[in-house]
Amino acid sequence: MKIAVAKETRDGEARVAMVPELVGKLTGLGYDVAVEPAAGRAALIADEEYVEAGASIEDDAVSTAEVVISVQPLDVARIRRLRAGAATISFLPVNQELALVTDLRDIGVTSFSMELVPRISRAQSMDALSSQSLVSGYRCAVVAAGLLHRFFPQSMTAAGTIQPAKVVVLGAGVAGLQAIATAKRLGAVVSAYDVRAAAAEEIRSMGAKAIELELETLEGTGGYAREMSEDRAERQRDLLAPHIAAADALITTAAVPGRQAPMLVTAAMVEQMKPGSVVVDLAADTGGNVEGSVAGEVVRIGNAQVWGGRNVPSQMPGPASRLYAQNVVNLLTLMTATDEDPDSGEGRLVPDFDDEIVAGACVTHDRTIRHAPTREALEGPVTDQEPQQ
Ligand code: NAD
Repeated sequence: MKIAVAKETRDGEARVAMVPELVGKLTGLGYDVAVEPAAGRAALIADEEYVEAGASIEDDAVSTAEVVISVQPLDVARIRRLRAGAATISFLPVNQELALVTDLRDIGVTSFSMELVPRISRAQSMDALSSQSLVSGYRCAVVAAGLLHRFFPQSMTAAGTIQPAKVVVLGAGVAGLQAIATAKRLGAVVSAYDVRAAAAEEIRSMGAKAIELELETLEGTGGYAREMSEDRAERQRDLLAPHIAAADALITTAAVPGRQAPMLVTAAMVEQMKPGSVVVDLAADTGGNVEGSVAGEVVRIGNAQVWGGRNVPSQMPGPASRLYAQNVVNLLTLMTATDEDPDSGEGRLVPDFDDEIVAGACVTHDRTIRHAPTREALEGPVTDQEPQQ
């Protein structure tokens, strides 16, 4: 079986789904690996490096492979050129890509979405949302340090003492905790807030101060946050305002699964910040935690420079690709049967839909949409019997 590594075509995407270092894992499973020309160029990986690792470079890799791996979903034109019964593995935000899901179903592609890999402990090594959030969180802290025209750490010199920067982080999930850890390592004084009850301890374990607000915590299912009511959102903003006004840098990373990012900071709150302050809004791409932030741009609000994140993991394409590729290898390993015969030793993709990880990550298979909320969005509620697994 051939696995194709697609060259990314979406605007601004610099990552690649496989790195030379991990090609051997796929050939070890018994697959042939074919890489589209220049697939790794934006991540500074040359075609020759893939060849040295045991892959081939093929113009028609995608249309001749049984399995196609990519970071972003393939575009419609390429999906229509896939072999019948081929499988794809990529990020596939189903609620934003309903037209693509329809094509994948109609063409008979078995598609897996990295966002839908269940966040259970057995699937941690396949959790690309976490691996990419780790990159984003680090990047946010470094961007904040770079934009701020002052030191992060305290400096005691013969010429006097320079006070450390005060950094506030809102949202302490994977990205937020990594932003906290990075800002701490750079020497800033960090405080952070998250609506989840468990977050305060996690914030403290990173060496930051947990901001305590007189508000109920908001725990949803699976350890995620719940959406706030508008009344609670307003009270949260009022209580956070003095903390933000005192900060030199504000980093926002808050998200609620399946929803637009919550608006945590109004432009009026940013206007209260000191001259030269910096705001980094990781959520700018998904609605924004900060009013007025623009994804992919630095805008000025009051005295502050406000940086809006746009495909932030792609800004560090080398390490982001390495981590993503490992997540994909681990998912593929779970779904592969390798021929016992040492002469052939061929790998076959045999997804076991009784496995909760495989079933959870699968969007389409056998001309059926298997992800129930997407099926309902496209085909209406099931009135009769559920389609067979
Ligand atoms: P996320 O990207 O969905 O959200 C980021 C953070 O924003 C979350 O911590 C959330 O609580 C916070 N948030 C939401 N609304 C907020 C608001 N109004 N104000 C302040 N903060 C707000 O989160 P994530 O990084 O995917 O992680 C969410 C949870 O899942 C965490 O508890 C994390 O430890 C857990 N997790 C578990 C696994 C696993 O078990 N395999 C893997 C990754 C994450």
